[in-house]
Amino acid sequence: MVNSQPDWVRWQKALEVEEKNGFVDLIGNQYRFSEFLCLTFGKPPKLLDSEWRKNWQEMASKFAKYPNLPISDRENLVKLAKSFLQASEAECQKVWQRRSNPTEEPETQETLQELPIPNSQLPTPQLEISLDQPLTEVPKLGITKSRHLAKLGLYTVRDLLFYYPRDHIDYSRRVDISQLEAGETVTIVATIKRCECFTSPKNKKLTILEIVLQDRYAKMRLSRFFAGNQYSNRGWQESIKRRYPVGSIIAASGLVKETKYGLTLQDPEMEMLASPGDNIESINIGRVVPVYPLTEGVPADVVRQAVMAVLPATAKIEDPLVRGLRDRYGLIKLPEAINNIHFPTDSDSKEAARRRLVFDEFFYLQLGFLKRRQTLRQTQASAILAPTGQLVEKFYQVLPFKLTGAQQRVINDILNDLQKTTPMNRLVQGDVGAGKTVVAVVAILAAIQAGYQAALMAPTEVLAEQHYRKLVSWFNLLHLPVELLTGSTKTAKRREIHAQLETGELPLLVGTHALIQDKVNFHSLGLVVIDEQHRFGVHQRAKLQQKGAQPHVLTMTATPIPRTLALTLHGDLDVSQIDELPPGRQAINTVALSGRERNQAYDLIRRELVQGRQVYIVLPLVEESEKLDVRAATVEYEKLQESVFPEFKVGLLHGRMTSAEKDQAINDFRENQTQILVATTVIEVGVDVPNATVMLIENAERFGLSQLHQLRGRVGRGTHKSHCLLMSSSTSADSRQRLSVLEQSQDGFFISEMDLRFRGPGQVLGTRQSGLPDFALASLVEDQEVLNLARDAAELVMLQDQHLQNSLLKAELEYRYQKLMGGSILT
Ligand code: ADP
Ligand code: MG
Repeated sequence: MVNSQPDWVRWQKALEVEEKNGFVDLIGNQYRFSEFLCLTFGKPPKLLDSEWRKNWQEMASKFAKYPNLPISDRENLVKLAKSFLQASEAECQKVWQRRSNPTEEPETQETLQELPIPNSQLPTPQLEISLDQPLTEVPKLGITKSRHLAKLGLYTVRDLLFYYPRDHIDYSRRVDISQLEAGETVTIVATIKRCECFTSPKNKKLTILEIVLQDRYAKMRLSRFFAGNQYSNRGWQESIKRRYPVGSIIAASGLVKETKYGLTLQDPEMEMLASPGDNIESINIGRVVPVYPLTEGVPADVVRQAVMAVLPATAKIEDPLVRGLRDRYGLIKLPEAINNIHFPTDSDSKEAARRRLVFDEFFYLQLGFLKRRQTLRQTQASAILAPTGQLVEKFYQVLPFKLTGAQQRVINDILNDLQKTTPMNRLVQGDVGAGKTVVAVVAILAAIQAGYQAALMAPTEVLAEQHYRKLVSWFNLLHLPVELLTGSTKTAKRREIHAQLETGELPLLVGTHALIQDKVNFHSLGLVVIDEQHRFGVHQRAKLQQKGAQPHVLTMTATPIPRTLALTLHGDLDVSQIDELPPGRQAINTVALSGRERNQAYDLIRRELVQGRQVYIVLPLVEESEKLDVRAATVEYEKLQESVFPEFKVGLLHGRMTSAEKDQAINDFRENQTQILVATTVIEVGVDVPNATVMLIENAERFGLSQLHQLRGRVGRGTHKSHCLLMSSSTSADSRQRLSVLEQSQDGFFISEMDLRFRGPGQVLGTRQSGLPDFALASLVEDQEVLNLARDAAELVMLQDQHLQNSLLKAELEYRYQKLMGGSILT
């Protein structure tokens, strides 16, 4: 612990020991004398008022400079510190008495007069560290250290303060050598019995420092290795030995490791303590050590010392979060948080610091999203689309079923949006089969009713065609035309479609990426619907939008992502969830099976086939190359057709087939020409065959849970009981646990939440284009609660201060958002 409670005795003792040793800036167990005092003064006791606290910070700055002072100035500063501490202690006592005796008259200001004012005592120039100061200009750092820090992207004091440690090592456990156990992180204090420094006889490039230590009952050997020719120099080796004289006392910290020479410490941190006779307790100072993310060639100590040198500057940080917000969300002040994230006094203070800083990471991102949304809304004007009208009413009448409550709710959200002059930007999430299409159709009809055109874009031809088929059947009843445009649309047809779009006589176009081609021009595009939106890039989505003047945008996804990810990725969208399935859906019987239980799986499949049902068998992408995967699929297909199910017809569908071949395979299956469809994951989205009742997935452990859930959604679309068989050859407990989530749940949101826990956000979203911001501390898995609070806070701020009159907040937002998202939002 550094100083959670004022420890006047220990501080005075440290000053005394330094004095006794001739002001050499003693190296203690963890810190140098000057660093320790810098830390000490950086955290004034809570009892002191702001004037006093400022003086404490002043002292901290002075001790940061201590190593650069001539001995005489050091002596003066130590004397000053002694009397300053005495005065502070007296002041604390007074405040304390006053508090426990509140009726008494408050003391006069006389103590302040008596106080030795640091400024007047020392002629040395004032060391003022400001936040924007370049690290090269911080006296303690100098060029070499600054150069190291620049490698980490740290250029200013502010950069460094906000460079959080990734961990802390707790060296506070002091252990006797005889008590060591492998695997523990400890500190030992012992006497140097022997010290050798030599070039390894086996490897000329390796130099070894070997120290034998002894404490009360036992001895141990410590080694440090130096790689490189420069260390084989005899002179260097002698100088190293002189640093560790026999008989002196050393503190060594590190992880205990078993070697053939017995227990030792791995890469020990070694610090000389004061002279042997000295009471080591007195300067056994600071023991929770921050561990920073480093890069090649940057010594850990450099960062630690540099942070310590600039820590007094936290006093200059003004907290952009006002008191009211901090209190409401249980947050500590920013300067305190920065101090404690680097050098926490205990685990509680570290937690509180982390919580505040994680909150900030989320908060500014959310505030940025909301600000961007606001900006968009101010600058754009969209067509107002009729909320309802004859078309929508008629559609409800021809619809063969009743909408679920969730569908109704989401439709209301959408119709609300459409009545505004600001463009809708809404994401509808809903499980497979939740009925998103109907919801989209209502929006489309509202647009058409208002005299506008609509476009529906889907990521694959299969899916686009399916939408088209369904829409044709509904639109026929409403006497409205609709067309399909994909890569395989014939030229003549395509020309006709282009023409009808330009005159406006075609109100709705369904299709694939073909919709965003240059030749496609709408007369008046009022609404864009994008299905499976995560399958499109930002540019593709934008390109479709640009075909109209600020059209409303509705995006849909059947791969629900957890709320944390949704907020982090689409915090500027409005999100609606269809979290209820249409009635009468049966749960799909899901079982995870091992390779040995394959026959059981085939028996079940045969039973279903005999009753006239159909079956999917899905193979994962296993090999690096698609070619090999296709071969694997082909081999499996032949095996199933020839030796396992010769009495049935097996079809094959994979990514290397032309779209005509794919259509053929899907059509054959749809028409029950084939009873089994062996497929790679191309069927993940969209194939709808109600007669299929079994989904068998090979090597299921290779899929993400959400993907498996998607695949499972291909069955259970008709009236028959359906099954999902998850074949897995993996015996690991982890993958078994993962698969059991699917056995137990049919809820896409729950499943994606579990997926996130098991695999982390990068994997869940697909590492390459996840678009997740790079948080320094925040975890999307562990910090969900804080994220929700931060979103709440951001909404509150936008409500109370929508133009960000709080200039501190505005500046901080700009700085943070740019850093996270690599772009500016306010301009
Ligand atoms: P998804 O959300 O996966 O896109 P779809 O819109 O394709 O789901 O709907 C799945 C099936 O459920 C379709 O056949 C659709 O007609 C039907 N459906 C949608 N809503 C309802 C409802 N409220 N009641 C009954 N069936 C519905
Ligand atoms: Mg759909």
